[in-house]
Amino acid sequence: MTASRLRVAVSPLRRDVSRRRSADALPMVDAVVAVLRPEEPLHCLRPAAITAAARSFVEAFEGRTLYAVKCNPDPRVLAALWRGGVRAFDCASPAEVALVRQVLPDATIHYMHPVKARSAIRTAWHQHGVRDFAIDSEAELDKILAETGPTEELGLIVRLALPKGNAALDLSGKFGIAPEDAPALLRRARGVTARLGISFHVGSQCADPARWSAAIALAGDVAVAAGVKLDMLDVGGGFPVAYAPEDDLPQLGAFMAEIDAGAAALCERLGDLAPAEIWAEPGRALVAQGASVVVQVQARKGDALYINDGVYGSLADAGSLNWRFPLRPVRRTDARLRRFTLFGPTCDSLDRMDGGFWLPEDIAEGDWIEIGQLGAYGATLRTAFNGFDRGQLVEVADAPLLETPGYAIA
Ligand SMILES: *Cc1c(COP(=O)(O)O)cnc(C)c1O
Repeated sequence: MTASRLRVAVSPLRRDVSRRRSADALPMVDAVVAVLRPEEPLHCLRPAAITAAARSFVEAFEGRTLYAVKCNPDPRVLAALWRGGVRAFDCASPAEVALVRQVLPDATIHYMHPVKARSAIRTAWHQHGVRDFAIDSEAELDKILAETGPTEELGLIVRLALPKGNAALDLSGKFGIAPEDAPALLRRARGVTARLGISFHVGSQCADPARWSAAIALAGDVAVAAGVKLDMLDVGGGFPVAYAPEDDLPQLGAFMAEIDAGAAALCERLGDLAPAEIWAEPGRALVAQGASVVVQVQARKGDALYINDGVYGSLADAGSLNWRFPLRPVRRTDARLRRFTLFGPTCDSLDRMDGGFWLPEDIAEGDWIEIGQLGAYGATLRTAFNGFDRGQLVEVADAPLLETPGYAIA
């Protein structure tokens, strides 16, 4: 294979993103590495794996699936999700709103950040056709009404704060209204909105399905206290994916069963006031398996490997959170495995990944290593610190390095 035959995906996206691209037109990771011999991180996007994961989720979830764009905003990712049946997008900034509108003109966009600049509300409403907004305070409601003026079209979703749970990444400390304050906000919002919902986020990478039913029960308490009709219940994101090979996660179906049971109990409790629609905002679960990064070993000192990507690049969660990602050497070798610590390329001593990475003991300078499950919060968190923000992106046909129970992989 020659370099010119490689599909290095830097071409502008076609507008007709519903056309399904056949994966067999794309190269395999090993072939790309053999030709490019990359000395900078090589990002390998697996559009078919993203489409497959999206389809699994959309089919398993009996409501509207909103993809949380912050997780990976690459236009090729958005297009792959669309092909998998995702039609609604959870945006949190003016740039995300504009991007989704440009890439997917027919998408429904929901503005789910509970604290927005006035100009962000204004452009979303007037230029991009956004009609649904999250709020967690009376002040935010005032801001939205000031920008939209009197309208019959506004949708409002009140974000509820949850008690700290057992997700890997807790998201309740920053946003959300306290359950005791929520009924007053819901009553006031009901008077000015065409569609009213309650949302929450159990925390990212949450492996306990019961957290969703508990949160739905709390939403029920708030709804009973408010005594107003709800139109939507939004169960947020947080659905986990496998990272370390020994991760033992419940099937996707177990999360859906808890949500269904919680929603059924809620409807029973609320009667005529129960919401007719249920929404979810998955990010990580739809895209994590959809990208990997091929790094090169630039030096070895004992069991320390100095590689060309790190915590200021696409491996942030391998640093502060000590996460282990699945990995494999690109070169074939039968050497026994040994535990390595990885160091990123910047001069900062925090640029160190200690989770324990098992690689062949003969790994050496110049070897390439593919690190998987980096489609979510990977490349999107890259910084330009120390000048190490370069790299290429290719679309590949390979299956993901690891399978998450309940999701199709390609
Ligand atoms: C980040 C975020 C999501 C997505 O969370 P995941 O853990 O990636 O599924 C969904 N909703 C909101 C409001 C978020 O901030």
